[in-house]
Amino acid sequence: MNKPIYSIVIPIYNEEENITEMYRRLSNLIEQLDGEAELILIDDGSRDRSLNMIRELHHCDSRVRYLSFARNFGHQIAVTAGLNFVQGKIVIVMDADLQDPPELILAMIEKWQQGYQVVYAQRLSRKQESWLKRLTAYAFYRILRVLADVDIPPDTGDFCLMDRQVVDILNGMPERNRYIRGLRAWVGFRQTSVHFERDPRFAGKEKYTFGKSWALAVNGIVSLSKVPLRLATYLGMLSAAIALLMILLVLYWRLFDPASPLIGFTLITIGLFFLGSVQLFCIGILGEYIGRIYEEVKGRPVYTVKEIGDVNHTLTTPASQPSHHSSI
Ligand code: UDP
Ligand code: MG
Repeated sequence: MNKPIYSIVIPIYNEEENITEMYRRLSNLIEQLDGEAELILIDDGSRDRSLNMIRELHHCDSRVRYLSFARNFGHQIAVTAGLNFVQGKIVIVMDADLQDPPELILAMIEKWQQGYQVVYAQRLSRKQESWLKRLTAYAFYRILRVLADVDIPPDTGDFCLMDRQVVDILNGMPERNRYIRGLRAWVGFRQTSVHFERDPRFAGKEKYTFGKSWALAVNGIVSLSKVPLRLATYLGMLSAAIALLMILLVLYWRLFDPASPLIGFTLITIGLFFLGSVQLFCIGILGEYIGRIYEEVKGRPVYTVKEIGDVNHTLTTPASQPSHHSSI
């Protein structure tokens, strides 16, 4: 097989109900492309039949290459691994659950032909997702926009097309905490969007639990903004102002209203709790940043690979690890 022009990266975690349909729709799409394409499937430590199904696809179709992680590392890391593994000149990242319609890829390619290096898909609506998810996602993207150093377009996920040049830069970024859509915005180049209605999942349950979504949101903010660190200064100023006000009040009461019941325990207790919580809050924020520094300093590989399905490699034995994929 010649070197493919298009690489489609798909992270997969327990998607046995979706893989067949996803492959069918993508094969249809690939027929319409003007060059060779490869599918890069990343099995993120699935516990269902996903890996078996991926292996079968690989055996039947040489365009399918895959990596299987030794455990679940999370969506962002799976995409990272996929990007490390691609060969194509044009790279597309999409989910396995068909919430990102593969047909949109054609519109993305059109934009690439017009000279854009990054084309991200922007959601106009999220069909059938819970109101809580929609509300939190809406709020999060707007908060991130205010806080982040770079301009992050709202309502964009990881569904996008990237030029090889951009992918090479992403692959060269050594950071271990990877918020792909943030890094993608950070690199710059000519970027544009295509709009789409987000479909419901084809089948199966959402793999992003509340905990995972929360972690992703905190990661997004911490990796793109230093504003929360500055919050400690502002909160310190605020509590100093409140303390000053209290001193003035107490002085006033002492001089003009000695019988006031507010002087004493109530005031002290409130003050104590207020200051205590401000301090703990600030320590928590510091902790988020220090935790990330710790992660970076440890320098562990970002993921571990237990199996590779590649036309160039034979199927490797479990736990063997290609050196160039083990860390970035
Ligand atoms: N996914 C993954 N690892 C995880 C969680 C999710 O690889 O730990 C994959 C999942 O299989 C899907 C994509 O990431 O292809 C998006 O997940 P999901 O549909 O649950 O999230 P959404 O973005 O739709 O809320
Ligand atoms: Mg989904």
